[in-house]
Amino acid sequence: MIKWLLLFVGAAVFFSWVKRKSLTKAGQPQADSPIPAKPPKASAPEQMVPCHSCQVHLPKSEAFVNEGRFYCSLEHGRQIDQDGWIGRALWRASPNADARPNGCAVDLVLIHHIGLPPGGFQAGALLSGIPAQHVVEFFQNRLDPSEHPYFAQIANERVSSHFVIARDGQLIQLVSTQDRAWHAGKSTFGERERCNDFSLGIELEGDGDTPFEPAQYEALAGLTSAILEKYPQAVFAGHSDVAPGRKTDPGTTFDWARFQKNNALPMEKFPFGVQKR
Ligand SMILES: [Zn+2]
Ligand SMILES: [Zn+2]
Repeated sequence: MIKWLLLFVGAAVFFSWVKRKSLTKAGQPQADSPIPAKPPKASAPEQMVPCHSCQVHLPKSEAFVNEGRFYCSLEHGRQIDQDGWIGRALWRASPNADARPNGCAVDLVLIHHIGLPPGGFQAGALLSGIPAQHVVEFFQNRLDPSEHPYFAQIANERVSSHFVIARDGQLIQLVSTQDRAWHAGKSTFGERERCNDFSLGIELEGDGDTPFEPAQYEALAGLTSAILEKYPQAVFAGHSDVAPGRKTDPGTTFDWARFQKNNALPMEKFPFGVQKR
């Protein structure tokens, strides 16, 4: 009798287990976990990266990249971003900068030239293959005074510029456009002194005798478009215009008319004109 009872109870337990199991299976939410007909081949999902300029996320393979920074479009790589940096430039931050005085907006762009060592910049670039290497080292306080007698004279100067355009047209940025770079020194523009407060500095790699390269004018045109998009009120002058008698750059080899034509800039943008000087 007990044998039969145990058999009956066992059968009932087995039946209820089978029933529960089938319910669980049928009750699985099909829509949430569809089982594909064929399992996909094992491959990592494509990495998404944020545009450094507008923060939009996009697949890595579709992004434009420069020095490990991603951009959603060429346009965003060419613009001055919200932090004052241009994506397509090489970023070589200089410590020789500080905050602009309160209320100082950028309304002047100063063109300079610099070549290190003076008259020997081409040999330097050929040897190292690094665009404007010594100029960047100078602006980063890393110039080796033992490399050249002139370097020993200037190695302790603390100067910088927002941008450098190397002989091959490579754009290098050292200071955010929001900050004050130390490029103009004692200077006067109209009624205002201390041009660093309200200007951007662009250094063209050169020595004042050798004509600037076509690639440098091209890079300058692209940079000018980006600057005017961000600072439409900006006008253009040379370092010698705001520090006459003390400075001669960019000098007589800089073709102001060519610069003006390249960007089709109105003459009001040139308070000192476009003649060579
Ligand atoms: Zn973007
Ligand atoms: Zn200068």
